[in-house]
Amino acid sequence: MMTIIYWFRRDRRLSDNPALTKAVALASQTSSALLPVTLKDDNPVTPWGFTRFGCHRLAFEAQSLAGLQKALQGLGSDLYQPSISGVSGLIDLAKRMDATLIVCEAIHAPEESDEINLLKDAGLEVISVEQSALLPGESLPFEINQTPIVFSDFRRLVEKAKCRPRTPLDSPSKLPAPPEFTGDLRPYAGAIDLPALDARSAFPYQADGWHADQNAAQAHLTRYFSSNLPQRYKQTRNGLIGTDYSTKFSPWLAVGAISAAQIWQALQTHEATHGSNESTYWIWFELLWRDHFQLMMQRFPTELFARSGLVKHPIQSRSPNTQGFKRWCSGNTGNAFIDAAMRELAATGYLSNRMRQNVASFLIHDLHGDWLAGAAWFEHCLIDFDVRSNQGNWAYIAGVGTDPRGGRRFNPQKQAHDYDRNAAYQQLWSMP
Ligand SMILES: Cc1cc2nc3c(=O)[nH]c(=O)nc-3n(C[C@H](O)[C@H](O)[C@H](O)COP(=O)(O)OP(=O)(O)OC[C@H]3O[C@@H](n4cnc5c(N)ncnc54)[C@H](O)[C@@H]3O)c2cc1C
Repeated sequence: MMTIIYWFRRDRRLSDNPALTKAVALASQTSSALLPVTLKDDNPVTPWGFTRFGCHRLAFEAQSLAGLQKALQGLGSDLYQPSISGVSGLIDLAKRMDATLIVCEAIHAPEESDEINLLKDAGLEVISVEQSALLPGESLPFEINQTPIVFSDFRRLVEKAKCRPRTPLDSPSKLPAPPEFTGDLRPYAGAIDLPALDARSAFPYQADGWHADQNAAQAHLTRYFSSNLPQRYKQTRNGLIGTDYSTKFSPWLAVGAISAAQIWQALQTHEATHGSNESTYWIWFELLWRDHFQLMMQRFPTELFARSGLVKHPIQSRSPNTQGFKRWCSGNTGNAFIDAAMRELAATGYLSNRMRQNVASFLIHDLHGDWLAGAAWFEHCLIDFDVRSNQGNWAYIAGVGTDPRGGRRFNPQKQAHDYDRNAAYQQLWSMP
């Protein structure tokens, strides 16, 4: 019996997973076994001396994989993990299982594309399916390498062309069985060592209802869109405290426990029952930002990792403030508003969009630190880390990305006055 390998990447769900649906259909048509796998990540130390995965990211990743495994077991399958890390583990596994076809989602970012190339170089056939973005690539009214660099231009074009997300797919009702003989290949057994829950967390993934898996994601989707929160999203989205000021979908989107198309469908239903307004439109608007950063990464995969970004002329080179960067990471800059946010980030793995903008601007424009180092620290900390959204937002604020105004400094005094007038946020995070 032939074996097809399904490789779960950032798509850890069974419903609305076109790549998985394709793999199931192929396995059924060819009477093949279907082997679901996840790959072990190495956790290398970055040039700035910290690892790529911090404690919250590690825990959230493990929680999402355990949830996926449970869902697969519910359909008579399982999630397997080769003992060798990275794609080398997958190449070795394919050889040992005599499998020649690997199906997975497509991720257009440099490391993720290299992974696919390594598989192909090893003689494997890879079917990678685009499914992360809200708008399907084939619906866009321009070629990818012609994607407008300015977000507003992109948004106007896709709205004028009436681009729409695909209709979400149901979960398969059953899965082809894994091969009977898996040798020394073992089911995923990642231990979840959850950091203690901080009661102040704006995304308390340690608590019931906030876990990283597809069930919690779907429950949140229902909870959020059956409430009135979407009706005032535009007024609350710059909030700093609590679980309700924004949608909180990003951590689930980052691991793929939910798809953007599923969010859009629930938004449509909400608008049909509760009415549409500027706030409900704004949820679509923000999801378009996510798409735009994905397309920018596809168009500028090298530039977005260079210090000079998309800027053609060399930027002023002064050596970045490394001491300032260290104080920034640990929440010891001396600015109470910024330090509060850096403590929240370290303590919970999540930060509001408003405070992400503020701390990024402070590192770059006030401390004269290195934006690449800041982006790397976010990668270490954030449970919703997504390489495309992260690199794109950091480059934007640094003035080497897609901002038509060439970067922006947020005045921390004014920002604290506008968004934390009674200093409640600063008090909340005055202690680590
Ligand atoms: C410096 C910096 C780094 C960031 N790094 C990441 C990251 O690694 N991963 C990540 O998902 N987001 C990142 N963002 C974007 C944004 O801050 C988060 O998506 C948002 O705060 C998540 O909370 P939410 O789901 O409640 O957002 P909401 O305000 O409810 O927005 C709904 C959804 O729209 C999308 N979205 C909203 N704003 C943005 C944006 N600026 N860019 C891209 N997508 C957006 C997200 O998918 C989000 O879940 C970053 C922003 C900045 C300024």
